[in-house]
Amino acid sequence: MDIIKRTAAVVLAGGSGKRMNSSTKKQYIDIQGRPLIYYSLAAFEKSNINDVVLVCAQGEEDYCREEIVKKYAFHKVVSVVTGGKERYNSVFEGLKVLKDIEYVLIHDGARPFISQDIIARTIKTVHEYDACVVGVPSKDTVKIADSNDFIQFTPKRSSVWNIQTPQAFKYSLVYGAYEKILSSDCDLEITDDAMVVENAVSFPIKLIEGSYSNIKITTIEDLRGVESYNFED
Ligand code: C5P
Repeated sequence: MDIIKRTAAVVLAGGSGKRMNSSTKKQYIDIQGRPLIYYSLAAFEKSNINDVVLVCAQGEEDYCREEIVKKYAFHKVVSVVTGGKERYNSVFEGLKVLKDIEYVLIHDGARPFISQDIIARTIKTVHEYDACVVGVPSKDTVKIADSNDFIQFTPKRSSVWNIQTPQAFKYSLVYGAYEKILSSDCDLEITDDAMVVENAVSFPIKLIEGSYSNIKITTIEDLRGVESYNFED
């Protein structure tokens, strides 16, 4: 392990999970006897990551501290913080509390199938390139549409990737980019962290091939087969 490059993870669980249509918020849905968010935290606990910040929705801080961090003994979780209105607000809240960290991996807690292999390759790549995101080459042809749902153009499929998390950056780079974008009145529809860096600074971001199983649990259909999934120990 490279102990000189202190690397943290921000794990996001601050969403409302409305598209799940469930009485339990999606980050706490029971999967094989544990809340969904457990699996991402367990993966980082087992990895070479030094510190973890868990970002949760307002009012859920105590529940996360007691029923998740303490109950499952996630010793790497140094802080549980309250997220914001949008995903990017939550990320910035998580970044703000990190201290003495050189690199940070930002991960959607709603992606429980993250593997040790992906985490290790993300850490290695960010230490080399300072900015990288996990994704998979698109299996489908992608169309860019206009506001009336007419096709505008078709990007070459071999250049199209579907982006996942973790997304990892040198801490000063991503913190500065977030600070710049959030203090400007730009009307970007920010859906991932790379977008913030792309728009704030001109910096090359490396793509890492992840896994088609590293999906984000969004709707009830995404839970199909999850009870028999073989999670890494
Ligand atoms: O909204 P979406 O499902 O794309 O969210 C991706 C991740 O970001 C989820 O893990 C969710 O909990 C988190 N999120 C957050 N704060 C928000 C919105 C989403 O931490 N305001």
